[in-house]
Amino acid sequence: MVGPAPVLTVVVPMYDEEAVLPLFAERLRPVLDGLFDSGDETYEVLVVDDGSRDATPVLLLREQRGWPQLRVVRLRANAGHQAALSAGLARARGQWGATLGDDLQDPPELLPQMLAAARSEDVDVVYGVRSDRSTDTAFKRLTARAYYGLMQRVIGGHLTPDAGDYRLMSRATVDAVNTLPDHHRVLRLVVPALGFPSTKVAYARAPRAAGKTKYPLSRMLRLTVDSLTGFSVAPLRLATWFGLGGALVTAILLAFALSADISGRTVPGWTSTFVAVAAVGALQLLCLGLLGEYVGRLYTQMQGRPSYFVARDSLERTPPSEDVVAALDEERVFDQETGFDQTIKAAGR
Ligand code: UDP
Ligand code: MG
Repeated sequence: MVGPAPVLTVVVPMYDEEAVLPLFAERLRPVLDGLFDSGDETYEVLVVDDGSRDATPVLLLREQRGWPQLRVVRLRANAGHQAALSAGLARARGQWGATLGDDLQDPPELLPQMLAAARSEDVDVVYGVRSDRSTDTAFKRLTARAYYGLMQRVIGGHLTPDAGDYRLMSRATVDAVNTLPDHHRVLRLVVPALGFPSTKVAYARAPRAAGKTKYPLSRMLRLTVDSLTGFSVAPLRLATWFGLGGALVTAILLAFALSADISGRTVPGWTSTFVAVAAVGALQLLCLGLLGEYVGRLYTQMQGRPSYFVARDSLERTPPSEDVVAALDEERVFDQETGFDQTIKAAGR
């Protein structure tokens, strides 16, 4: 099955995306087929199935039957969006590597434009920048602004705000990313931090075509913590500043207490004692927690545990036998109302 290295590898992480997968394939394929319609140049779509528990693997198998350029790497367990992207990049064979989400929020139609920009401007990275987020929820916009604002202060000028994980990278960039030792890689920060020549292509972000977002608040917070601790030790210095501020306040309080004592106007002072103890306790815990984030990072980094495990790669396997494919077809019971039949879901495990 292993053919010549493709010109472009499109890495697409997918987790429980049965609802959006057929729509996605329908939109992506004509774009790529059109881009590589002549000559020997080809592409590869590398879907990283991030341990989906729904019908995604079955649907992928079905798509593969009529789409030889589709390659599926299945992870053993759900590893998360960033780890899935890393898994895809580690296995991408193309001279160029693009990453995008599968929910059609990032339009696949932009890929030819990105490739053209990379070639004509001779750059290593082309960022897809969301110029219009009006279809995102107000909450998403607010959190995104806070995130990019914070990270821009931390990383500096390299970071393009609103450049998410839709981007095209040269082979050199993909190789550079693959050699990074970070386990909690946040690609949208790691790539700009490389500082390779880059350009931007703007697009309007569409609403999710189907299915639900896989980024609840807890995952967004995790991404922010990983982003911060991965690039800055500034939070550690907070402890120093708090300590200095605390010392100053203590000096003032001491002067006040002494003068009150000398003039004989001592007050019961319960409130001030309580507030001081509580405030100092809270600050200590905060600083300890921050320290813990870095220690934790060191700890996981030293353990050297991989952030994902690959179960199978369709490139390294012979395609499923006709019997299996026929059995899959027999199970194809499509219910217009509810989506997919349980038998298909069971086969997806
Ligand atoms: N994703 C993944 N593993 C996860 C969570 C998400 O591979 O654990 C994929 C998901 O299928 C999608 C992409 O990462 O292709 C981005 O997720 P989503 O669209 O839900 O995030 P949002 O666009 O809402 O930030
Ligand atoms: Mg999305």
